[in-house]
Amino acid sequence: MNLKGHQQLFVMSFFETPIEYLKGVGPQRGEVLRKELGIFKFKDLLYHFPFRYVDRSRFHLISEVQDDAAYIQIKGRIVSMNTIGQKRAQRLVAILRDESGTIELVWFKGIKWIAGNLKSGVEYAVFGKPSEFNGKFNFVHPEIEPAALKTEDQIGLTLQPFYSSTEKAKARGLDSKGIAKLQRVLLQSLPVSIPETLPATISGPMNMISVRDALLQIHFPKDADSLRKAEFRLKFEEFFYIQLELLRRKLIKTEKEQGKLITKIGDKFNDFYKNRLPFELTGAQKRVLKEIRADMGSGKQMNRLLQGDVGSGKTLVALLSMIMVNDNGFQAVMMAPTEILAQQHYNTISQLLEGSGMTVALLTGSTKKKQRDDILSRLASGELDFIIGTHALIEDRVQFNNTGLVIIDEQHRFGVEQRAKLWGKEEFLPHVLVMTATPIPRTLAMTLYGDLEVSVIDEMPPGRKPIRTEHRFESSRVRVIGFMKEQIAKGRQIYIVYPLIEESEKLDLMNLQTGYEAMCRDFPLPDYRVSIVHGKLKAADKDQEMKLFAEGKTNIMIATTVIEVGVNVPNASVMVIESAERFGLSQLHQLRGRVGRGAEQSYCILMTSYKLSKEAKLRMETMVRTNDGFEIAEVDLKLRGPGDITGTQQSGVVDLKIADIVKDGSILELSRASAISLLKNDPNLDDPANLAARRVLEERLRGREDWSKVS
Ligand code: ADP
Ligand code: MG
Repeated sequence: MNLKGHQQLFVMSFFETPIEYLKGVGPQRGEVLRKELGIFKFKDLLYHFPFRYVDRSRFHLISEVQDDAAYIQIKGRIVSMNTIGQKRAQRLVAILRDESGTIELVWFKGIKWIAGNLKSGVEYAVFGKPSEFNGKFNFVHPEIEPAALKTEDQIGLTLQPFYSSTEKAKARGLDSKGIAKLQRVLLQSLPVSIPETLPATISGPMNMISVRDALLQIHFPKDADSLRKAEFRLKFEEFFYIQLELLRRKLIKTEKEQGKLITKIGDKFNDFYKNRLPFELTGAQKRVLKEIRADMGSGKQMNRLLQGDVGSGKTLVALLSMIMVNDNGFQAVMMAPTEILAQQHYNTISQLLEGSGMTVALLTGSTKKKQRDDILSRLASGELDFIIGTHALIEDRVQFNNTGLVIIDEQHRFGVEQRAKLWGKEEFLPHVLVMTATPIPRTLAMTLYGDLEVSVIDEMPPGRKPIRTEHRFESSRVRVIGFMKEQIAKGRQIYIVYPLIEESEKLDLMNLQTGYEAMCRDFPLPDYRVSIVHGKLKAADKDQEMKLFAEGKTNIMIATTVIEVGVNVPNASVMVIESAERFGLSQLHQLRGRVGRGAEQSYCILMTSYKLSKEAKLRMETMVRTNDGFEIAEVDLKLRGPGDITGTQQSGVVDLKIADIVKDGSILELSRASAISLLKNDPNLDDPANLAARRVLEERLRGREDWSKVS
């Protein structure tokens, strides 16, 4: 659609009109709309979409009311009405009958008014969500009105929109119905032509309806088909601009950021690969290494996310990349989220490097001053090839000599700012490899990390036996203990993990302590030796306990979740998780990944109480059913929603108005493909045909920080 300038201006000012100027709003309701619902102007109201629609064209028979899944409508006459119970706990129960049967309607509030207004003999339309009570379905506080009466906003309405609101807004008459009324008024004055928000080259081939139609139909759909078309258009558009923004950002970054050139495969790498590699790399490890090599040799800065399930062998890929960088004269940094993990990486890597001539040091919060000064000076002089550490690495005192590569393990614990700090120290940005063992469903990864390249290690090292997972109740404890003893007799080691109750450290310790004491009774010395690790232990004591376990000097490791990430003791073959219902799916999967690292058959036992919520049951079933981290992540995403999975700092990115990362994956793929092909032909959006895209993108970016610098 081609609009003249003044027309466009008119539409813009319509969208920007402060909400209080809408008929039926005014200053007081305007304040409520702003504060409660974030609706400041006409446009915000237009984009406050219904979250549900109910088919009001169809009436159910009372006999059909068989579940509490959805809002429905029934029609019938009232055959009796009684007020039941004492003063404070009074309720009004009316019995409604149609040709198929009867059902109770219940009110706890406004009893007098309702009782006074309902008449026997009149046919009523009743609308609500059935609930189950004592094995029967009823309606609590339904909407009810004479069936013959149709209010103005119900005429011609088939699908009734439902809007989210808040208690305070509802008190001002801005419940779902109140908002629907405002939408009606607003849509009646919608300008006849609205500038298109998608380039015709995209909306055309996909037969999308116009943005104006989409806005009309999303609020008051003519029928199910119109609603579907409106939803598709608006969901596509929402995803499309997120993708366009991410992809543009990536483009700008790669244009701007010169990468350090890592072109040479040198002696150190060749020597290591031929003589020191303890095993043949898996196909997936080789492929990922090639991807990393290509990135680092491109002359642009690498920004790559490496996903691989626990135990898939990310550490080795990391080390080989570090050596590659070192052959080209640069240092490499590896950062881990916890001391234990940093220590473990250090142990693994320094062992592998022994005799190679390459040097590595460990720097954490508990590194002693003298040693620290020594490390810092060797780092600054360039004598050190590699440094591994925790957050301590981003302190101001740390001076790198010439960092070529920064590897961040388990990235979800580092915020974007911390990352930026790490490479803010260098004039030229080093390559960045972010490793995560938390599999992120593809759709979510595309939305969150659309500006990163993604590598996946989707193959486990050979010879691994899948871990067997069982769900057990308290009543089986004796058998579980017997099983653990058998395993210990075979020379295996065991983890027992207790949940961390965040509200109360005291309770945590009590939990752990009681568990520990019980275990000491069940596993008496001298046959059994137990290590214990928890958050309150001093780092040195923690390390000591870990070390004893890693060296096989203790049989059992009792711990809170500090062992969650990365810890590697191949001889440990049993993971017992206490109160497993308290853990989220991804955490359970992480914990389970601590076993199954050696050649022996490994086991994971999930201990729970009998009382489990529906969700907890599903979590246990999922764990028992599959070892596949990506499958587990998908279930987790469905259970918890995207915000929780990625942690709060990123939730803004997935703050979607209409599209749903879980349900609308195919629309997301489509939108990303469209954004890619658009940018391929017109990277700077200069083509007049792409004006719509440019305008929307600029509006999105206005007022934001200089986003090209982030991450
Ligand atoms: P991740 O960090 O991905 O969870 P690790 O790097 O700790 O996994 O590797 C898990 C275990 O598998 C380690 O004991 C490691 O030595 C071993 N491993 C890694 N790659 C291979 C391979 N190609 N073949 C056999 N074992 C491997
Ligand atoms: Mg690891």
